[in-house]
Amino acid sequence: MSLLEIQDLKVHFPVEQRLFGRAKEFVRAVDGVSFTIAPGETVGLVGESGCGKTTLGRAAIRLINPTSGRIIFEGEDIAALSGKELRARRRRFQMIFQDPFGSLDPRRTVSDILGEGLDVHRLAPDATARRQRIDALLKDVGLDPSHASRLPHEFSGGQRQRIGIARALAVEPKLIVCDEPVSALDVSVQAQIINLLQDLQSEQGIAYLFVAHDLAVVKHISRRILVMYLGRIVESGEAKEVCRAPKHPYTKALLSAVPVVDPDSKRQRILLAGDIPSPIHPPSGCPFHPRCPVAEARCKTEVPPLRELSSGHQAACHLTT
Ligand code: SF4
Repeated sequence: MSLLEIQDLKVHFPVEQRLFGRAKEFVRAVDGVSFTIAPGETVGLVGESGCGKTTLGRAAIRLINPTSGRIIFEGEDIAALSGKELRARRRRFQMIFQDPFGSLDPRRTVSDILGEGLDVHRLAPDATARRQRIDALLKDVGLDPSHASRLPHEFSGGQRQRIGIARALAVEPKLIVCDEPVSALDVSVQAQIINLLQDLQSEQGIAYLFVAHDLAVVKHISRRILVMYLGRIVESGEAKEVCRAPKHPYTKALLSAVPVVDPDSKRQRILLAGDIPSPIHPPSGCPFHPRCPVAEARCKTEVPPLRELSSGHQAACHLTT
């Protein structure tokens, strides 16, 4: 059984409110997305800035309310839960944020930050158990327990992200949405954080939805990859297969931007024209057609469905077989 099953999820934000009336226009940030995550699995969600991936990651764990669709977590539709019911389940799904500088309260000690989840969900019966748990969490993420009384500004960027990871781990989640968790860090620190996330997954069986714009990072950590463009999934499949034989022209362009180590590689960079279009007025037909290097006439009028091309590998393009 899937740990998480997203069914036809939509998140539309109103952008213009008529006086005394309903919203006239909407940003279609997420526009009919479906996917699953198995227990202990890492699914990578990749796309350019503005494609809707952060909104999707947040909506998947109800940090943003969806407009429609179902979010089945451990067999229960959490899209339909009220605030109190949702709060009681929140410890099962957590988030690690992109900005390790902005996501930690600068006035609270590490002990306070990690202890909050323990207190809210009553996971430590007394002060001794609370302190022991905080020490264990700091050790789990490679930090010194004697630093629990320090404030966030006393740590480096990588260490702060470790604190963010420890905060998520404190409530023993089954799923963590990692929203660009390494993109604000130095390259040398990125690998350490990725390795830490992988080690924690092997030890604790946590599933990750790993959101990133950098396909090189997503490819390294994920078992499966979802490629998102303008609020929709345009390709999905096993990470190795998607990277070895991408089907969608957008995925091909993203992959062509990933640096290759092999100096003899003949791979050519595919430059995409223009920026991602507005999700308020998405293009007709295939939403990628204004930037697609191989678009045909029908791409302007016919929406390509997400089709299964081989076992577990899907793409939304008229030309892929
Ligand atoms: Fe390009 Fe057409 Fe395929 Fe869209 S459907 S990706 S425009 S070839």
